Amino acid sequence: MHVVTLIPGDGIGLEITKAVTDIFAAAQVPVQWEEQNAGQTTFDQSGELIPNALLKSLEKNKVALKGPITTPVGKGFRSINVTLRQKYDLYQNVRPSKTTSGIQTRYEGIDLVLFRENTEGLYSGLELWDERLGIADAIARVTVEGSRKICRAAFAYAAKHGRKKVTLAHKANIIKMAGTLMINACKEASLEFPEIVFEDKIIDNMCMQLVGKPEQFDVIVTTNLFGDLLSDLCAGLVGGLGVVAGANIGDNMAIFEAVHGSAPDIAGQGKANPTALLRSALMMLHHLGEHAKAEQIDKALEATLLNKEECTGDLGGKASTSQFAQSIIAKL
Ligand code: NAD
Repeated sequence: MHVVTLIPGDGIGLEITKAVTDIFAAAQVPVQWEEQNAGQTTFDQSGELIPNALLKSLEKNKVALKGPITTPVGKGFRSINVTLRQKYDLYQNVRPSKTTSGIQTRYEGIDLVLFRENTEGLYSGLELWDERLGIADAIARVTVEGSRKICRAAFAYAAKHGRKKVTLAHKANIIKMAGTLMINACKEASLEFPEIVFEDKIIDNMCMQLVGKPEQFDVIVTTNLFGDLLSDLCAGLVGGLGVVAGANIGDNMAIFEAVHGSAPDIAGQGKANPTALLRSALMMLHHLGEHAKAEQIDKALEATLLNKEECTGDLGGKASTSQFAQSIIAKL
């Protein structure tokens, strides 16, 4: 039995984590959930934004499944997602985007995996506001070590999964020093993996190429903010935020979570698609070595996605979050 920390999060988090835990229970997955939460609701109840009990649970279990957590815009507390990623050095944000038979998209044959650096860059939290001069600085700190770690991880993943190419997306023509660190780190990693083709592209061109001919990409590696933007773009290519999974991975801990946020516009209405969190949970099962269970649930999910009637509204169906989960359960 694997003990896993479960963080339901905010907004649609409650509905989609319930769908996933129901499916896991029906499939008799050997996972025991240890539920903890963080964020505004937790603060209102306990006076702690990130309770100590949650940190203790993460440090003990080293694996978590997390729903989205709301972060206030422009003011208020610092993102809990970013805080956890930095605290536990979860430097890889791995986000696969793949076309699926049942989901209608403009493109076919997309199968790419994005490696987003997850602890540095414009997410470093180095912001200065000089009211007198009316100047706001946001510092994108990129380190040699951080660049090496994420670039090597992307190449190692490519080699392990039989992938052919790694593309670095950067802006080293303008952000010369930080951009060059990533180019150098990728060149260094590519020497270790000579069978993997390495190319680099300037981020603006990369965006155009991704919406024009996405099937040309395989593994993509990039800095934190570019990775955030590109992964939502890639989600749009393969069916939207409701279907793409993600994982925050460090050397000692992994927190699995969907790419999307807490979706306040549809929260509490039974409209959320649980596929993204379910796929994140399946990545977690592979991480735990439970490959057979992951494949069993994945087959039931794929079969459900083939029937639009059984899907949620974002995929053109009419089913609620729990009806969608029940359809998956019926096919296990
Ligand atoms: P969002 O991802 O929550 O929503 C964007 C759009 O996609 C909305 O229209 C929403 O309804 C839709 N959507 C998202 N997930 C869906 C799902 N599973 N099924 C169907 N539709 C779905 O982005 P946002 O509105 O910009 O952000 C809302 C909040 O989430 C913000 O506070 C933000 O900081 C937070 N956020 C958290 C995380 C995280 O916890 N890792 C990630 C991104 C955003």
